[in-house]
Amino acid sequence: MSQIEIKGVSYSYPVKEGHSLKALKNVSLAIDKGEFVVLAGMNGSGKSTLAKLLNGLFTPSAGEIFIDGISTADEENTFEIRKKVGMVFQNPDNQTVATIIEDDIAFGPENIGVPREEIVVRVDEALEAVGMSEYRTRTASKLSGGQKQRVAIAGVLAMRPDVLILDESTSMLDPNGRKEIMDIALKLNKSGITVINITHNMDEATVADRVVVMRKGRVAMDGTPKEVFASGLLEACGLTLPPVTQLSRSLADEGFVFGDVVTDEDELVEEICRQLK
Ligand code: ADP
Ligand code: MG
Repeated sequence: MSQIEIKGVSYSYPVKEGHSLKALKNVSLAIDKGEFVVLAGMNGSGKSTLAKLLNGLFTPSAGEIFIDGISTADEENTFEIRKKVGMVFQNPDNQTVATIIEDDIAFGPENIGVPREEIVVRVDEALEAVGMSEYRTRTASKLSGGQKQRVAIAGVLAMRPDVLILDESTSMLDPNGRKEIMDIALKLNKSGITVINITHNMDEATVADRVVVMRKGRVAMDGTPKEVFASGLLEACGLTLPPVTQLSRSLADEGFVFGDVVTDEDELVEEICRQLK
C-alpha cells in the first residue's frame, strides 16, 4: 500500500442550482512515502482541487482517497488527515495568523492541544528547518516573500506532517525566494517527508522523482522528469520546458548530440565541452 492512494476520484463544484463543474474526473494515483512529486498543468486543470482533497479540505464526489490507509471521506479522520498532510499556498501575504513569527508557528500545535513544553520544542525545530531561527521574535509583515513562505512551511512542520504540499508556493517569489523554498523542500524530502510541489516552473521539476501532468481534470501523464520532458506533452499543455532542456534542444539543432534529455546544467556544460574538443 502506498502512503497516498487516490482511487478513481472525481470532484464537482456546485456552481449554480442544478449545475456543477467537474474539476476532477476519475483520477487514480499512488504516491509512496518519501517521493518528491511535481504536479504540473495549466490553470484550471484541477491541481489545487486535488491538493485540497488530499488534506481533507474537500471530500471526493466519487472514488476514495487514503492517506496511510485512512480514508479522507470519513469525517472522523479529517483531523488526523490535516495533521498528516500540510499545505502551503501561493500568496505569502495571507498565510500568517499571528503578528510575531514564533506565535504564528505555534498556532497549529496550540490548536490541537499540544502541551506547552512540546510546542516550544516544535517551534524551535521548525524555525531551524527553514533557517529562520534568528527571526523568531520578529514581525512577519516585515519579511521578504521567500521568508514569509519559509515561515508558512515552518507552521506546517510544527504539525509534524508526513506529506508537504506546496501549491504554487514559489510563484509569487523572486528567483532567490524560489531557490530558498526549493532548497528547503529538498532538504525536508531527504529527511523523509513526502513532497508534492504544484508548479508551473519546470526548473523545479528537474529535481523531482516524478512529474504528474494534469489536463482538464485528468492525469495526462505520470513519469520521470526526463520522460515527461521528452514526451512533448508539457508544450501541448501550455507549459515550457526548463531552460537547460530548451538550451540543449537549440544546441542539438546546431549539431550537438545528446544521448538523453538534458535536465542538469553541469551535465550540459560537460557535454558541450567534450564535444567542442
Ligand atoms: P488549478 O489549480 O490546476 O488551476 P483548480 O483545481 O483550481 O485548478 O480548478 C479546477 C477547475 O475547477 C477549474 O475549472 C476551476 O474554474 C474550477 N473551480 C475551482 N475552484 C472552484 C470553486 N470554488 N467553485 C467553482 N469552480 C471552481
Ligand atoms: Mg491552483
